[in-house]
Amino acid sequence: MKHTDLYINGSWHQTDERFDVINPATEEVLASVASAEIADADAALDAADAAMAEWAARTPRARSEVLRRAWELMTARLEDFAHLITLENGKARADAMGEATYAAEFFRWFAEEAVRADGLIIHAPSSGARIIVQHKPAGLAVLITPWNYPAAMGTRKIAPALAAGCGVVIKPASETPLTMLALMPLLEEAGVPPGLVNVLPSRRTGALVDHMLHDPRVRVVSFTGSTGVGRTLLKGAADQVLKPAMELGGNAPLIVFDDADLDTAIEGTMLAKMRNLGEACTAANRIYVHEAIAPEFTRRLTAAMSALKVGNGSDPSVDVGPLVNASTRDKVAEFVADAVAKGATVECGGEVPAGKGYFYPPTVLSNVPDNADCVHDEIFGPVAALQTFTDTADVIRRANDTEYGLVAYVFTSDMKHGLQVCERLDYGMVGLNRGLVSDPAAPFGGTKQSGLGREGGHEGMLEFMETQYISASW
Ligand code: NAP
Repeated sequence: MKHTDLYINGSWHQTDERFDVINPATEEVLASVASAEIADADAALDAADAAMAEWAARTPRARSEVLRRAWELMTARLEDFAHLITLENGKARADAMGEATYAAEFFRWFAEEAVRADGLIIHAPSSGARIIVQHKPAGLAVLITPWNYPAAMGTRKIAPALAAGCGVVIKPASETPLTMLALMPLLEEAGVPPGLVNVLPSRRTGALVDHMLHDPRVRVVSFTGSTGVGRTLLKGAADQVLKPAMELGGNAPLIVFDDADLDTAIEGTMLAKMRNLGEACTAANRIYVHEAIAPEFTRRLTAAMSALKVGNGSDPSVDVGPLVNASTRDKVAEFVADAVAKGATVECGGEVPAGKGYFYPPTVLSNVPDNADCVHDEIFGPVAALQTFTDTADVIRRANDTEYGLVAYVFTSDMKHGLQVCERLDYGMVGLNRGLVSDPAAPFGGTKQSGLGREGGHEGMLEFMETQYISASW
């Protein structure tokens, strides 16, 4: 599965410039990967443009069958994809299998959505004309993905784009380009025509993407990554008024009320915090526990975090692999040092281990003050930052006190109270007594500076379609 060249128009292209992909568990070079230049971007857009004309003209059922086949093929090769994800990203085997399964599911979901691009026909109330509304493929799409989910963040964009009838060029993250390249032979086998999907790893990221955003054939830019890069892309997209889909950063609050079922709350907190070892935009970043249950909650969470085995993610008995690179690991260590300097208590973890690999142990911090940096920025690592509260209005105010609005979590046994709290949280998604919200069938996305648009659900395909209205008389 180890492809390392550019994938353009259904074939592999070498380049003079290459860059290394590192295994974060060993710090060894895993592969030397081709780095795309501007001319490669033009070739990829030419190929996508040519392929899209025929693809968009196929029936929705025909497009659906190809996507369905992609789901079947990927599902049969989950182990291989999980292995590759672990090698380049570091995440533990179970996390990698979870991602591969989730990634494949987008092909199945959008195979089903491809045949449901419904429209509308109504009698205009005053003029007597017929109002016909239909959705058409928006045009070529540039897709830019992050390193934390090398498979799923790609398929979450490719599947709806193809379902809608669009051709795409993907720029995967430089830390983890191998998984997306490995997906290409599978898509060929599923029946995706050459040129419809192109993959351009590159170290000239900014210039390459900006060039594509200024090509008149491009109509959509779909990005998952940091809010800072999202802002840059929105500015670049403005020149051609592209349709933007932006899945950006998060700073998820997790609130545990004193009537919560503690088993459920601990299980949900572990999932919300430790899925993908905290390297997730959905990771619980601020954990607010009602003062009455804080000692018991802290004791149980510390026990659960301490029980996790840290090591090379390729070992199936390991729960927590390394972080993706040294700077991510160092940033996590800085968040912990800052919180401790401002008064937080280390309940477990908190020390960078000696030796090779970008490891950081599962860590619980209690008494984290509101002015700690980790309360305001994404930790993106296995650190649970605990704070306490007594008053519902106060904890909702603190939870909403951020420029982010991706996801929040609420644990309570009182569903009426829980739903009331959910509605007052300014977030695109809320997990109520659940630590996991991601689902291909649900609209994933955030409010405020966490992004624009939604991926998955019924909304996901509409991001790659334009609405056309025809006013007709007969
Ligand atoms: P990142 O630094 O923003 O990078 C994401 C992608 O953008 C990479 O492919 C990167 O390429 C590319 N990029 C960097 N600079 C660019 C530029 N000037 N123009 C165009 N593309 C550029 O984010 P990351 O560190 O990989 O991922 C972590 C972030 O993603 C976190 O903030 C996390 O919350 C967010 N995230 C959000 C979601 C969501 O659905 N909301 C899901 C997952 C992750 P290079 O690798 O070549 O630099």
